Amino acid sequence: MTDPKLKTFEGSHILVVDDEKTNVMVVQRALQIAGYDVVGAGSAEKARACIKHQMPDLILLDISMPEVSGLEFLTELRGQSKTSRVPVILVSALTDTETIVTGLQTGANDYIMKPVEMPVLLARVQTQLSVAERARVLEVQAGTLAKLAHTDPLTGLINRRGFVEIYTSEISRARRYKRSLVVAMMDLDHFKNINDRYGHAGGDAVLKSFASIARAALRTHDVICRYGGEEFCVLMPETKMRGAMRVAERARDAIEKMNVMHEGEPIAVTVSIGVASAFEDDDEDCTEEALLERADKALYRAKAAGRNCVVSYSPEEGSKKPLN
Ligand code: GH3
Ligand code: MG
Ligand code: MG
Repeated sequence: MTDPKLKTFEGSHILVVDDEKTNVMVVQRALQIAGYDVVGAGSAEKARACIKHQMPDLILLDISMPEVSGLEFLTELRGQSKTSRVPVILVSALTDTETIVTGLQTGANDYIMKPVEMPVLLARVQTQLSVAERARVLEVQAGTLAKLAHTDPLTGLINRRGFVEIYTSEISRARRYKRSLVVAMMDLDHFKNINDRYGHAGGDAVLKSFASIARAALRTHDVICRYGGEEFCVLMPETKMRGAMRVAERARDAIEKMNVMHEGEPIAVTVSIGVASAFEDDDEDCTEEALLERADKALYRAKAAGRNCVVSYSPEEGSKKPLN
């Protein structure tokens, strides 16, 4: 890996804000010679226009300016989401401790005293650009890790952890706005036999195909996750039981018709589905656990009814002892 300290960040876009024209010119020239792309602004107002035109990678900001002072402008920059994290180095003739501390506390990344020693300014600019670059890389890595933590590697579907996050927010939304919500539990039938007959690789091929066929049979806003080994859970927001049963039946049928080829042999598979809804009646309440339990009970009944079928939860039957 390249050492970020050795990077020059040539071409980075730097905005120099100072009401003294000569200051802007001197700093601008030195930065341009170092390979940066520099624009100057004589006031906060002009700086705003420059930022609107092109977001700078770094801002050098004078403190003593008429109208809007450097500190006021810095507060403004930190308060806006677009500029809240742009590195800002204050460049000022004010050398008292209080001003320096206030400047840093207001959100400046560094403080340089005038008269400017150019090599020091260049080194500090380089340091701030490098810190910002590292923060960007870390942010991307954190995003990738978060995605991995929520994805099932075999099927590419979200995993149980990812599902729980979405489920928690969807159920509270459904409760708040009294919108119906459906959970469908899907479990592959006699999957153990498939593993026994075609080996684990054959079983894995079935799981992969199941995931893509089921996903395609669902509607775009339905959320499907790999809930456990050969168990999948589907969340259908804004859906009532009748509509959900149609969607689930379409998925069951697509799986029955699917033929997975493994080592030249077709593997047939079926799925049992238990469907449960919440918040269909205005006064009904239902917890996260209760809705999953209902779907589980319906799934159990689908298995008991001979598998390869879709069963909806109903309170009377759901609370009955399972057949078997
Ligand atoms: P039922 O119809 O009652 O659901 O029977 P079943 O055989 O599908 O159910 P059971 O829960 O007894 O077996 C599930 C099997 O799924 C057992 C386990 O080895 C297998 N399994 C779980 N995860 C994976 C996986 O990632 N890959 C493969 N190939 N098999 C898996
Ligand atoms: Mg099974
Ligand atoms: Mg199972």
